[in-house]
Amino acid sequence: MVQSMTTTNPLDVDATMGEIRRMQRAGCELVRVAVPEKDSTTGLREVVRRSPLPVIADVHFDHHLALLALEAGVHGLRINPGTIHQRSKLKEIIVEARERGVPIRIGINAGSLEERILKRFGSAVPEAMVESARECITLCEDIGHQAVKVSLKASSVSTTVAAYRLFSAQSDYPLHLGVTEAGPPFAGVIKSAVGLGVLLAEGIGDTIRVSLTGDPVLEVRAAYGILRALGIRERGVDIISCPTCGRCEVDLIPLVEEVQERLEHIEAPLTVAVMGCVVNGPGEAREADVGIAGGKGVGLLFKKGEVVEKVKEGAWVQRLMEEVERMVG
Ligand code: SF4
Repeated sequence: MVQSMTTTNPLDVDATMGEIRRMQRAGCELVRVAVPEKDSTTGLREVVRRSPLPVIADVHFDHHLALLALEAGVHGLRINPGTIHQRSKLKEIIVEARERGVPIRIGINAGSLEERILKRFGSAVPEAMVESARECITLCEDIGHQAVKVSLKASSVSTTVAAYRLFSAQSDYPLHLGVTEAGPPFAGVIKSAVGLGVLLAEGIGDTIRVSLTGDPVLEVRAAYGILRALGIRERGVDIISCPTCGRCEVDLIPLVEEVQERLEHIEAPLTVAVMGCVVNGPGEAREADVGIAGGKGVGLLFKKGEVVEKVKEGAWVQRLMEEVERMVG
């Protein structure tokens, strides 16, 4: 499942709901909401009531916030044993979650491991992250709360991958995948695609979040991009376009940008090809659901492998859109 996180304080219910709706339209299936202070929990209650998506409260430091979030009716709770230091307080949260039947994500982060564990392992190595998760799992099991999911995030892709591999070799608990603080969209998507891609290709991972310094909608789109590239899930349009070269006879880059923008609202899994010349153009356009193979001043429009017509250069995007809209009804 695809998860993302709001950037708002839930105290501002309207802003939070606006973001959740945009995320839902992009295909988000689980939404995480930060609960930074006591006042936020008032808004959180309303957000939970109005949200079309299951809401997971993200709590650090103050265990009272976790208890208040549970009282507000959240569908899931993310806690980090590295930021709720006292075992008695962790216990209180887990008992309350068990009573309410609310699943917990044990969200380990390499940047906030317990001092005790850091001392034992020397630094935030994958083994230390897994140990932190294991200790918290044992606590949940002792309390009798089995509805647990684990994440083991680091900003380093190799540490993240190693931690998840190590954990999944030892345990069957479900895993939420992410490379944390991955960075701005371009770099962040690359890191996430590599890290999550490796793990998902090995069959590791149950939910995913692409973590970006940017609009959460981009996180959702990137997540689907990763899932689609691996053939795990399909949603929205996959654009096949050539990188252009000296043979290109059209101004392809702005054309593809326009096509991408105009196809963003399509949810159906379609392949649309926009190609620059006759070398690979007809082949790729024929393979796509809809495609245009560009040529000098005129392009060939393909639909499901058949040439539909010759289209003058200025009308390519319009004709592509008409065929796509017809296909998705
Ligand atoms: Fe170049 Fe044509 Fe290939 Fe595009 S399809 S990269 S223009 S050879």
